[in-house]
Amino acid sequence: MNQATLKRLIVGVAESVIAHAKELTALDQAIGDGDHGLNMKRGFEAVLAEVDKTSALPPSDALKAAGMALVMNVGGASGPLYGTLFMALGKAWPATVDRAGLADAFTAAIDAVKARGKSEPGMKTMLDVLVPLVAELRGGADLAELRAAATAAAEATVPMKAIRGRASFLGERSIGHMDPGARSSSVILHAIADVLEERRAA
Ligand code: ADP
Ligand code: MG
Repeated sequence: MNQATLKRLIVGVAESVIAHAKELTALDQAIGDGDHGLNMKRGFEAVLAEVDKTSALPPSDALKAAGMALVMNVGGASGPLYGTLFMALGKAWPATVDRAGLADAFTAAIDAVKARGKSEPGMKTMLDVLVPLVAELRGGADLAELRAAATAAAEATVPMKAIRGRASFLGERSIGHMDPGARSSSVILHAIADVLEERRAA
């Protein structure tokens, strides 16, 4: 991956998360404390502020730097969890960037989130999008299929009962609402696909 693509990926993801802040906050108002959009916006504004510096680094170091920015700037549960995801992804970044290498790196990153959050898929969290996405990636899905999988996986959190995070305090009342972190993971995947498709079209 060249430096220009890396920069476009970082900017694309950050801008999309920031543009979805209101929606993420509305989701968190239903089953949490209504700060997910603001948390993510603050974190990705910090990532954007450093983008010239980070995109000059090798991808592994750029991912670690972005993860650090999220940990340091995002309040709530999602900051340390997304921070862990990106830092662990940087740490596991493959020497040869092919499908299997990427799937292995994402698997390692997701394992770090599971350990940090003491969580597994099925608990109505971001993992309910991240885990199926990696399975799709490993299985050969193209960008259109990854987009559809992300949207469907976020949607599939609606009937779930939350077992982790603030939404779990609501018990049965968490049922019937999309998990905010599942939605932000889907937003991030769509932003990555947007950048990669634009590059392909160019
Ligand atoms: P907080 O819950 O502290 O207010 P946010 O609102 O920013 O933090 O983030 C909430 C999101 O974080 C949830 O929607 C869920 O996807 C994710 N989350 C919370 N706890 C966990 C956990 N233990 N493991 C994985 N994801 C979690
Ligand atoms: Mg919240």
